[in-house]
Amino acid sequence: MRNSWSSEIWRLTGLLLLGLLVGFIVGQPAWILLVVTILYLAWHLRNLYRLDQWLQGKRRGIPETTDGAWANVYYHLYRMQQRNRRRKKRLATMVNRFRESTNALPDAAVVLGAAGNIENWNKTAESLLRLKNPQDMHQPITNLIRHPGFIKYLNQEDFSKVLRLQSTYDENVFLSLQIVPYGNKQHLLMVRNITHLHRLEQMRQDFIANVSHELRTPLTVIAGYLETMLDDDDDWVVNNSDSMKSMLQQAQRMQNIVSDLLLLSRLETEEKSQQRQEVDVPAILEMIISDAKVLSQGKHEINLEYDRDLYLHANREEITSAFSNLIYNAVKYTPDGGEINVRWYEDNDGVHFRIQDDGPGIASQHLPRLTERFYRIDAGRSRASGGTGLGLAIVKHVLNRHEASLKITSKLGTGSTFICTFLPGLAIRREIA
Ligand code: ADP
Repeated sequence: MRNSWSSEIWRLTGLLLLGLLVGFIVGQPAWILLVVTILYLAWHLRNLYRLDQWLQGKRRGIPETTDGAWANVYYHLYRMQQRNRRRKKRLATMVNRFRESTNALPDAAVVLGAAGNIENWNKTAESLLRLKNPQDMHQPITNLIRHPGFIKYLNQEDFSKVLRLQSTYDENVFLSLQIVPYGNKQHLLMVRNITHLHRLEQMRQDFIANVSHELRTPLTVIAGYLETMLDDDDDWVVNNSDSMKSMLQQAQRMQNIVSDLLLLSRLETEEKSQQRQEVDVPAILEMIISDAKVLSQGKHEINLEYDRDLYLHANREEITSAFSNLIYNAVKYTPDGGEINVRWYEDNDGVHFRIQDDGPGIASQHLPRLTERFYRIDAGRSRASGGTGLGLAIVKHVLNRHEASLKITSKLGTGSTFICTFLPGLAIRREIA
């Protein structure tokens, strides 16, 4: 195509030379040169006009071929236009495919702008959240999901957790929602129908609660009869006292498991806010420590340090159960002669219950799973000490229900520390008369 530019230069030179020749012949070289230049300019102007028309889209199809440099310009412009058309087509196909795949997703996906306005959604969102086009486009998402829990979730910074909600359109439908931040302050709201999972969970909870409840009475009867029989000085009983004592011990262990399971299922199902009151934690700790001393039979040094007028806005039974589990564990797992320190205090981070022992400690690989139900490091030892394997699961549930956290630090051979931290807002200051 470089040729077209050189032919253009040759064309101009030729025209000017011809004009000069004719000009000399007619005796008016300047005029003739002017006329030639004007004609040459006019030709360019005409081509420029055609190009402008074509660029504005007033002329369709391939522009008529012209000679010289214009042919070059037209050729490149046309190639560029064709390339752009192909690219646009490819992009449109990709967008369509992407839309088709998001529409095929079994989960609802809603694109939210920086201000939380709905920018786009897929087909599942229409059925799950009842989003309608065009009414809901650009509406704040909080207009459509009016749940207070969702508004709180949306306004926080950390979206790592999933939010579970009951659908506002159908109370039999349960949803799990998660926000995924991306790009520049954009958010993707993913919503999944978890009704099936919720039902299974409910069935599991009901099953455990029912089985535990059904087992309670027979176990009470068995343990009761065994106790009465053991009090008897009948020959048969005296000869079989070892096996009967073992039966009673196992029946009592089962009773403990059943009562812990019942407590756990109550913690799982009951409303969080129920029965919160001003709890005199120092008095509760005094009571648990005195029981722990009975359990220890003087084999441990148990120290209690507390802020006497620091009360907690909490559920008394639940807090008692959590703290006693932690204190009894320390007594159970710390060898004779060990030291156990319990502290109840407040600082800038909140209100803390801390229990420290110099027992065997817990290896780091067990720490993340310690609060799971029936998770025991040494099942034999736990059973021998009357453990159910449910104590720390109860602690975790109680703390969750109080928006509190449990921190466990431990090193093999040096002891363990359990710290429960409650939000500063739950602290109550009571002046003791
Ligand atoms: P258990 O009824 O077996 O005590 P928990 O849920 O209370 O069940 O505790 C789970 C496991 O954690 C226990 O089996 C024990 O191995 C370990 N553990 C709990 N507290 C301590 C502690 N203070 N020191 C060492 N190990 C502990």
